[in-house]
Amino acid sequence: MEVCAIGGDIGFAVVVDVLFCAGIFSCVLESKIARMTDIIRLLPDSVANQIAAGEVIQRPASVVKELVENAIDAGSKSIDVYMKDAGRTQIMVIDDGCGMSETDARLCVERHATSKIKESKDLFLINTLGFRGEALASIAAIAELQLRSKRCDDELGTQVDISATQFVGQTPVQCPDGTTITVKNLFFNVPVRRKFLKSDSAEMNHVRNEFQRVALAYENISFSLTDNKTEIYRVQASNLKQRIVNLFGANIKQNLLNVETETSLITIHGYITKPEYAKKSFPEQFFFANGRFIKHHYLNKAILQAYEGIIPPEKKPCYFIYLETPPDAIDVNIHPTKTEVKFENEKAIFQILLSAVKQVLGKFNVLPTIDFDADSSIQIPVLRPDTQVSIPKTVSNSAYNPFEISDNYNVSRNQGWESLYAGFENEGKQEDKHEQTELFNNATLQTNTHLQLKGRYILTPVKSGLMIIDQKRAHERILFEQFQTQMTFKSSASQQCLFPETVELSIDEMTLFLELENDFAALGFDVRPSDETQVKIHGVPAETGTQNPVMVFCKLLDDFKEPENDLFDEKREKLAAVMAKQYAISYNKTLTAEEMTHLTEKLFVCNMPNFSPTGKIVIHIVKMEEIEGLF
Ligand code: ADP
Ligand code: MG
Repeated sequence: MEVCAIGGDIGFAVVVDVLFCAGIFSCVLESKIARMTDIIRLLPDSVANQIAAGEVIQRPASVVKELVENAIDAGSKSIDVYMKDAGRTQIMVIDDGCGMSETDARLCVERHATSKIKESKDLFLINTLGFRGEALASIAAIAELQLRSKRCDDELGTQVDISATQFVGQTPVQCPDGTTITVKNLFFNVPVRRKFLKSDSAEMNHVRNEFQRVALAYENISFSLTDNKTEIYRVQASNLKQRIVNLFGANIKQNLLNVETETSLITIHGYITKPEYAKKSFPEQFFFANGRFIKHHYLNKAILQAYEGIIPPEKKPCYFIYLETPPDAIDVNIHPTKTEVKFENEKAIFQILLSAVKQVLGKFNVLPTIDFDADSSIQIPVLRPDTQVSIPKTVSNSAYNPFEISDNYNVSRNQGWESLYAGFENEGKQEDKHEQTELFNNATLQTNTHLQLKGRYILTPVKSGLMIIDQKRAHERILFEQFQTQMTFKSSASQQCLFPETVELSIDEMTLFLELENDFAALGFDVRPSDETQVKIHGVPAETGTQNPVMVFCKLLDDFKEPENDLFDEKREKLAAVMAKQYAISYNKTLTAEEMTHLTEKLFVCNMPNFSPTGKIVIHIVKMEEIEGLF
């Protein structure tokens, strides 16, 4: 690899760096400095580098990013990151890339030493991750840096040691092909910055984010990340889908939808996730432009727009979108840490992305045009008491969204009778209980008249009108109370798996599981950790029936993170709620008359039948007068 001579850098420096510009005028300044009245000094290199470092290196994660990116630029196939104390004490990056010559190994830590740009026009044709030639110089300014590097054709490698910009030594060494850079005691000479480092776990989160970004951009390279001997990630070279699964856990696999579009302006590929995978917090959202992770607020909007109406407004879709444009159609240099970029034809790209995502969602039949009002008004009259009960006529809507029930719907159906049944909806009062019982009795008197509407609601004529029960929410309530009892009495039955199933977990998921291990056990899960990021499922609660144990378990962990469930103070309650949600019958499940009777009866022996565990309304009564008013 070729490295510019220091002198050659000066032309480039004029383009990119004000501090360095000072060097060009140094002869003028030197004569001035000689005079007593002059006060301007040239900053010593060590200070200038420290200042520049402030821009590039904010925390251990920035070091990891820069070193890993250099390793990628060097054509490595395998890159390993080893850290101590979240990088505070040590960060070591080992690569098997092209290595450096003896001279390059010494030069690469100089400011504006880069092999990637020779003249200013190269700035617009950059295909490498780095190009400013300031990362190594910056790191060397605020830490102790040791570099060992060897090209495959060389007999011996070179070791260079630098501490706070001071050259410590250079020796020939025996070392493997490639480069190993070790950075110790980050910010040891900038105590203020060292003090402002966050807790190890917070710093590790930053490192993990950087690692994920780079691992997602280069699925054909193997990576590992280890901190204090704990291996956090080890991902082998693979395809993109597998890489996503390796990083984010098995549950995401069946939720990925492939996006692929090629236009003369831009090529887009990657994955979006199914609407039901949308998350309220920390959604996995990644854009890459020409192999580089980017943030792009405007293009993010294009994706959100494509999901509009399919997912509740408070939820966010996950996506992994890769954009490829000619390098001169994108400006990567508008931000020092290079995550914000500007495209030449942003408006057009927005439209292309929007329609690509919409098309995929459409193809998977998840684009809805829900018109509840039009649907529901047809069916209520079918159940007038004097009418022969028949299967309600439903207007089938092929674009119907089975995943989420709109809260707006409840609001509009509520109007009118809600106040009349206010007592019913207020939990805990004696008369409410009474009214519930009466309602229940009325309902059971006519058990044969349960009707299922659109695989969603159980309709039952009752004395006061028509009772509508949301089948899924009702079941959630029943299970929620049942699971709580089971946990209290540890009475849950477990069904053993024929073969233990292995599940790979992310570190976060593992931490969560360990926190909840006892509660899981109390519910009938027989799940045992088999190593740091792996558990084996030996048994699952009997209630899960034929559901895939891996999916059941992964979804539980996932749902546990939903902020919607934060309203539960007690972890045990929260787990019961999450479990209930998971195991409850789904919408679109056809129920037999017997099942509907059973569900209704079970619901009315619950302590709080009116509300789902997360507070959504389970039962509505449409008053008789209201029905009659329709005619
Ligand atoms: P930049 O990446 O912007 O060129 P850096 O300071 O990050 O600047 O690196 C300076 C130079 O050192 C690079 O241009 C490259 O030639 C060389 N270099 C750095 N890291 C490696 C590595 N892991 N393998 C081979 N060469 C490297
Ligand atoms: Mg670099």
